[in-house]
Amino acid sequence: MLSVTTDYAKDTGDPSPYLKRIGEAGFSHIHWCHQWNTDFLYSKWEIEQIGFWLKEFGLKLLDLHGSAGNEKGWASAQEYQRLSGIELVKNRIDMVAYLGSDVVIMHVPGDPESVPIRKSLDELEPYARERNIRIAIENGQFPAISKLLSEYSPDYLGLCYDCGHGNITGANGLDNLEKLKDRLISVHLHDNDNSGDQHKIMFMGTVDWERLANIMACSSYKKPVSMEVTMGRSGIPDEVEFLAKAFETGTKFAGMIDKYR
Ligand SMILES: [Zn+2]
Repeated sequence: MLSVTTDYAKDTGDPSPYLKRIGEAGFSHIHWCHQWNTDFLYSKWEIEQIGFWLKEFGLKLLDLHGSAGNEKGWASAQEYQRLSGIELVKNRIDMVAYLGSDVVIMHVPGDPESVPIRKSLDELEPYARERNIRIAIENGQFPAISKLLSEYSPDYLGLCYDCGHGNITGANGLDNLEKLKDRLISVHLHDNDNSGDQHKIMFMGTVDWERLANIMACSSYKKPVSMEVTMGRSGIPDEVEFLAKAFETGTKFAGMIDKYR
């Protein structure tokens, strides 16, 4: 079982050509990442159609990247924008519930101590719980995230570890993940040379994959290896070749995790 992001080539527009190629490359799951940073609200017809496509291409939804919005912002200090942001997150919760998965990943824009993120999390909690959906907060700033996680139940709030963000100089991602591995419910796996967020294919950069495999094996994360890789900086311009390489490296990493279990 392996998962890859839907936006490996493009994150808006008709997703069906990409879903088809992901299915043909042998993946079992997708990380839904289309519209991850827009104000786009999925209609019931769009969500239903995505369900048809997943079935047609033999894919399951692993988890979904929710949107912190543009003009709608779940952490906005402007109340009308924050409420619109809540509507946007609820839209993704409904989508995930309909498509049979259980995790929506969110970014917290800014410092959780200075934005009304707790107000939004409190308001979303009953809605998410009723639908058996958990919210995963993606790293960002770890001290702030760990404080937030300590204030909410693991049944509602967890961690999405993005190993590319964690590899950027000064982030100390793996040391931080080690402390929060019992809250891990989602992963974004990709590589970089630690100078910035590059979303390269695994093993192309400097992420310490051996250590990450060891930590993941002892963590609360039990789902498939999930790659948030993009073609842009990976240097493979052909989609079929790119997906084949992602599949090969994902399989290798899944084997490394198994070794530590
Ligand atoms: Zn990510």
